[in-house]
Amino acid sequence: MSQTTEQIQKSDIKDILENSINGHRPGPEDCMRLLESDDVHLMGLVSGHLTRKKFGRKASFVNNIILNYTNVCITDCKFCAFYRSPGADDSYTLTLDEIKSRVQAASEMFKIRQVLIQGGHNPNLKIEYYEDAFRMIREKFPQVGVHGLSTSEIDMIARVEKSSTYEVLSRLKESGLQSIPGAGAEILVDSVKDVISPKKISSADWIRIMDEAHSLGLSASATMMYGHVEKKSDIVDHFFKIVKLQEKTKGFMAFIPWNFEPNNTLMHEEGIVEYGTGGIQLLKMIAISRLVFDGLIPHIQSSWLTNGVGMAQLALQYGADDFGGTLIGEEVVSCTGARSTELTDKIISDAIHQIGYQVEERDNFYNSVSIS
Ligand code: SF4
Repeated sequence: MSQTTEQIQKSDIKDILENSINGHRPGPEDCMRLLESDDVHLMGLVSGHLTRKKFGRKASFVNNIILNYTNVCITDCKFCAFYRSPGADDSYTLTLDEIKSRVQAASEMFKIRQVLIQGGHNPNLKIEYYEDAFRMIREKFPQVGVHGLSTSEIDMIARVEKSSTYEVLSRLKESGLQSIPGAGAEILVDSVKDVISPKKISSADWIRIMDEAHSLGLSASATMMYGHVEKKSDIVDHFFKIVKLQEKTKGFMAFIPWNFEPNNTLMHEEGIVEYGTGGIQLLKMIAISRLVFDGLIPHIQSSWLTNGVGMAQLALQYGADDFGGTLIGEEVVSCTGARSTELTDKIISDAIHQIGYQVEERDNFYNSVSIS
């Protein structure tokens, strides 16, 4: 660290970085100074150092598929290009048989360890739909972890059932749900949500439902979607709402910052956001995430999905330790088996080996499956 220490001495964020090296996380004011600083590479030197101290020169990934069980949604988020209104010609909802055949194909072809189940807010789906799907997956494919349903989907099910989110979570856990993705957080500040997703649950509800899930033993990821209408102070608020809950519950396994991609969204159409924030901002967010959550949330995930494999390789030097999932598209699994346009385990392994790191395949709970 001697070269790093020398560079830190010249930086106006040196006190924050030195504190991080000495095991003291930045507070909200420090976080704001980090966001205002242009010393991204210096932040990366320190966050990369903290990451290697914990994980060595090793990065993990999970073999998984994403199962978008329905695109029917009544929530109309302005950043979403996926949803369709109920009754739309190109709307769909997978049947239990379709879910089974897709998980079976993915298990046989890719030896998946996780299925990431997410969909729209479909008012026609009762809780039994989810219970049947989770039970079937856990019984027939016990090696496949069920990571599914954002807090806002849980809220939708509770509204359909006229029940509480706690009761819904309890029933879903009973039927096989094992962990919850962080989607739906976006930026946990209601003035931001009022613009980008006015019909979605509030920030307080996201925190409350996560808190309930953690209390039931359901672990989760936390996410942040930045690069739209948020201010720097909103990002600070987002980080520290998650810090506060994590200090209470220890329920988050990973944090995943990813940037908003405006193409094909209402926010682009309405001229609210013209272009994405790009690579340097991603590295900065990854680095700040590691500094803010060091010793609190173990895993920081790089987001290849919106920035590509090359940026994910860089992110692994800037504080990320996990590459996320293969996220093989379900149409690939169910149809020809063509893998060329997808991020397969081979492409991820190669990308990690290319930076001189060992590759750890992991399961849904970040347990090691194999190392190469
Ligand atoms: S709730 Fe989800 S599927 Fe529905 S519009 Fe919002 S982001 Fe899209």
